[in-house]
Amino acid sequence: MAKRTPKIAIIGAGMGGLAAAATLRKVGIEVQVYEQAAKFARVGAGIQMLPNSCHVLKGIGVLDDLKKIAFEPYSHLNRVWDTGEIKRELPMPESLYGAPFLCMHRADLHEALYSTLPPEIVHTGKKLTGLDQNSGGVSLSFADGTTATADAVIAADGVHSLVRSMIVGPDKPIHKGRIAYRAVFDSSLMNGGKIGASRTNGGASIGI
Ligand SMILES: Cc1cc2nc3c(=O)[nH]c(=O)nc-3n(C[C@H](O)[C@H](O)[C@H](O)COP(=O)(O)OP(=O)(O)OC[C@H]3O[C@@H](n4cnc5c(N)ncnc54)[C@H](O)[C@@H]3O)c2cc1C
Repeated sequence: MAKRTPKIAIIGAGMGGLAAAATLRKVGIEVQVYEQAAKFARVGAGIQMLPNSCHVLKGIGVLDDLKKIAFEPYSHLNRVWDTGEIKRELPMPESLYGAPFLCMHRADLHEALYSTLPPEIVHTGKKLTGLDQNSGGVSLSFADGTTATADAVIAADGVHSLVRSMIVGPDKPIHKGRIAYRAVFDSSLMNGGKIGASRTNGGASIGI
């Protein structure tokens, strides 16, 4: 008897949900993605994709297109915020890792992952409100009153995951007391200040 392909429901169409959908489809597994947002917007700022992540993007088939719009910095660099002192620098050439280190706008990564999926499998305006596991699989219910079924569900609904709380119980993230502010702006606003090869498409010189 032919083996039935499992049907997977993914809750959340962020980076994790879209990447999971793309990779599962690569191995022939049927997926449906349910996202609470009514539509996608260009939110976020810069996102770093280290070589391991870029290996995955290559497998999904979006790396070449992302390379055309992303920065390929020379290194991963940590500085002291107020003095600029370099604390650590890791060169990240593609030749060393077999995949590049790319920096891009988060929205570009999201769009690239979304572009690999047939639009009809990504359902927006579907806020999950209920999940029922039974011997036949999983039943899902949404805030708009609709329902869906699947053999299994993948929770990709972010840091405040409802699926996670339904399965393992309520939990709170632990704040470690560190906050990072991020922004994307045109380098012409630096008044001639040089940020060096670690954050530009520059050459191999280290530091500022
Ligand atoms: C500005 C910014 C910059 C960042 N930069 C970096 C970086 O440089 N490097 C790095 O590694 N990480 C970075 N991050 C973090 C990284 O983007 C997150 O780790 C990543 O987005 C988490 O992906 P995710 O798919 O798990 O969750 P999310 O991206 O949070 O996606 C969760 C999705 O689930 C949906 N959802 C939630 N609840 C429900 C529900 N009940 N029903 C249906 N849908 C639901 C949400 O609407 C959302 O679309 C950055 C994040 C931000 C905001």
